[in-house]
Amino acid sequence: MAGVGADWNFPAWLAERRAAGLYRQPRRLEPLGPVEGMQNGKRQLVFCSNDYLGLARDPRIAEAMIRAAREGGVGSGSAHLITGQRRHHEALEEELADFLQRDRTLLFSTGYMANMGVIDALLEPGDGAFEDRLNHASLLDGAHMAGAQLRKYPHRDTDALGRMLSEDPPRRRLVITDGVFSMDGDTAPLTALAGLAPGHEALLMVDDAHGIGVLGDEGAGTCAHQGLDQQQVPLLVGTLGKALGTFGAFAAGSESLIDYLIQRARTYIFTTAPPPPLAAATRQAVAIARSESWRRAHLRVLIARFRQGSEQLGLPLMPSETPIQPLMLGAPERALAVSQALRERGILVTAIRPPTVPVGQSRLRITFSAAHSEAHVDRLLQALAETEHLWNAREQ
Ligand SMILES: *Cc1c(COP(=O)(O)O)cnc(C)c1O
Repeated sequence: MAGVGADWNFPAWLAERRAAGLYRQPRRLEPLGPVEGMQNGKRQLVFCSNDYLGLARDPRIAEAMIRAAREGGVGSGSAHLITGQRRHHEALEEELADFLQRDRTLLFSTGYMANMGVIDALLEPGDGAFEDRLNHASLLDGAHMAGAQLRKYPHRDTDALGRMLSEDPPRRRLVITDGVFSMDGDTAPLTALAGLAPGHEALLMVDDAHGIGVLGDEGAGTCAHQGLDQQQVPLLVGTLGKALGTFGAFAAGSESLIDYLIQRARTYIFTTAPPPPLAAATRQAVAIARSESWRRAHLRVLIARFRQGSEQLGLPLMPSETPIQPLMLGAPERALAVSQALRERGILVTAIRPPTVPVGQSRLRITFSAAHSEAHVDRLLQALAETEHLWNAREQ
């Protein structure tokens, strides 16, 4: 690194990272089916994707994408506000609004960009972003991008949040929470938050990346599941890359809120509109997610089976009723060891370590998909039983 960047000793930094058990790298997976794939020449049953409804490889969705690509090509060619806006984008925005019971929605390229853009559009330097301590990184980064003061409240603690809001000087503020917490699988107390925010003149924003498609009768998410509408949750964001099985994201709310975001959200304005065939694919995905309720019912069966089996084994489960069922293991080395032992048995669950989760809370983030069978859950439980010496603290 002659001259430039002499302060960045990459090899030393990487070596330290490895020594701490925190080194990460992408590992190639060749899909063999909705929940199976080859990795390093070994067949793995996958329990760590976010493809909750098993739609990522659905041939109907692929077909919709291919058809749209044949008709209109792949690229949008520019931003939505220049010449990038197409029929499929507008139809998807309308269908998402109908699905989520919101006045209007706005597409973003990714959930990360949606959160950055939305929070930055709503908050100015000196405003307040009140966020659950376990919110997704993109929600914290949105507050940083806006230059707002980030105030984290203890996980799901609405009393603590109420006190913080009471003591806060008068200013503009957002209360921001995940709907389903991405690494823990529990849900936010949305009814309490929706009751609290207006009294403190705060706007409630819910990121339902892991609830959309999964919770609620038609899969409209955590808000619908808890019986809350646009009045109570004025700002909803979500990704299309998880349960819906495609890619991209949206913000949803009132007509004027969305119109405001179109004027102000920099990650919407200054970026190329997503490929129209992607929007066409997502339209098909939304239709399937809404109508095929058996996928949600099957997920509930798998989750119940796993939790019952885990209890018998004495696994360190967390209080979650969603397809995210983490096993808390503590030290990163421990999470890596269990993950490795499972991989040797053909079960793929990646270890989640800091900075994705707090220090001392490394875990295996087990997730279920509607494409899993009950026999798959039993195979996972069997592999966990065989590796008990690695995860059971009493045995160490
Ligand atoms: C995954 C995730 C995001 C990011 O969405 P992408 O579309 O993957 O960028 C945002 N928020 C939460 C809570 C997430 O889990």
